Amino acid sequence: METPNRTALVEDLMERFPHVPREAVIKEDLLRGGMAFDESALSGGDDGDVKPKSYFIFSFDHRTLPELGQAALNRPPEEIVLTGGPYELRRTVVSVRVNPDSPYRVKGGEDGSLGLYLDGKRISDVGLPPMPEYYRHKLSNGKSVMEVAPTIQWGYLIYLTVFRVCQYFGAKEECQYCDINHNWRQHKAAGRPYTGVKPSDEILEALEIIDKYDTAKASHAYTLTGGSITSKVGGKDEADFYGSYAKAIEETFPRRWIGKVVAQALPLDDVKRFHDYGIQIYHPNFEVWDKRLFELYCPGKERYVGRAEWHKRILDSTEVFGARNVIPNFVAGVEMAEPFGFQTVDEAIASTHEGLRFFMSNGVVPRFTTWCPEPTTPLGKANPQGAPLEYHIRLLETYRATLEEFGLSSPPGYGPAGPGRAVFSVSSFMDSIPEGAEAEAATEA
Ligand code: SF4
Repeated sequence: METPNRTALVEDLMERFPHVPREAVIKEDLLRGGMAFDESALSGGDDGDVKPKSYFIFSFDHRTLPELGQAALNRPPEEIVLTGGPYELRRTVVSVRVNPDSPYRVKGGEDGSLGLYLDGKRISDVGLPPMPEYYRHKLSNGKSVMEVAPTIQWGYLIYLTVFRVCQYFGAKEECQYCDINHNWRQHKAAGRPYTGVKPSDEILEALEIIDKYDTAKASHAYTLTGGSITSKVGGKDEADFYGSYAKAIEETFPRRWIGKVVAQALPLDDVKRFHDYGIQIYHPNFEVWDKRLFELYCPGKERYVGRAEWHKRILDSTEVFGARNVIPNFVAGVEMAEPFGFQTVDEAIASTHEGLRFFMSNGVVPRFTTWCPEPTTPLGKANPQGAPLEYHIRLLETYRATLEEFGLSSPPGYGPAGPGRAVFSVSSFMDSIPEGAEAEAATEA
């Protein structure tokens, strides 16, 4: 049962888990349950002074666009940054997930300065990301850079969802927590520009604009991603489809950014092609560790590849990329989703810990995003509150302890680590690792 007063829940966890930074407790709660916005705190749309939420792959909202009202018409910011307040928060970057019913609200205070309010009380100052100069320039065909090559993580990562749908389609194949296909439909229905397959020349043009105007060199990496390809797109299989973008980028901007790809766990020959195309970091996401839950939540992956084979391919790919550069993601929190998930935090943590040990004992450092229970997904519908906050806090503790157990540091390509320094915005694992533990991508396996 959730404590009715969220402040009490948050403060209780801060007290019980003093080794987890307080910043991470607030950040995890915002990521799992979302935040509300006063109209005055919205971005001002695509031409304002604030960087708007780009909807870079999934909706990451707790309501559908038609239910968001003003927050849909006048976009919220991509991220917010928290500082100060009664918990003396160090600078904390949080991805924006909108939930009009959240006890957290971003609004202006009496002096007009923006703050984050929990249960009506101001708990931190809020900074908004400035509109980057490169968002103010359009491609020659009129498309916006935000549509083609949005940046997240306070500008660190260029997020290239080059295929906006997934070929795992329908209830029997789609992952049960994923709204990629619905998000594509809702943006189309709202008449927003939302390109299904992004042409390579548009990507290159958008990157050229970023490269030109990102004079502070804030962008360090790009991620090529999108839905799984079980047959072909444009005549190409998954490795060639995503790899061809990397090839074009690396030929035009050699090693300007760290190239990453999020794709299925593919056979070794395909993985080699990714590497040959110039990708440096491979994310074959394992999603959820428990066998039964993987089979239930990822029916497409189970049917086409199978869990054991998926894990084998993850380990095999270290031959190509080196263990440090294979970074599989999991969706933290779905372990506890009703009706199939674990009933207790202890069981959920024990299961995920087993998975972390499996990978880390092989030198592979997974990372995670905090589950956002989007309302059009089966798991989101059944669990609008997401997972208990205690699960997320204990996961941070377990993750750090397991890293230390195997003498590993945080994965490369995520920017600085440590409270007050991290920019990774969709989970607080980087905020919870000691400062200076970050690593850069190895250029060769
Ligand atoms: S493989 Fe699963 S998580 Fe990935 S895009 Fe497809 S449905 Fe979503």
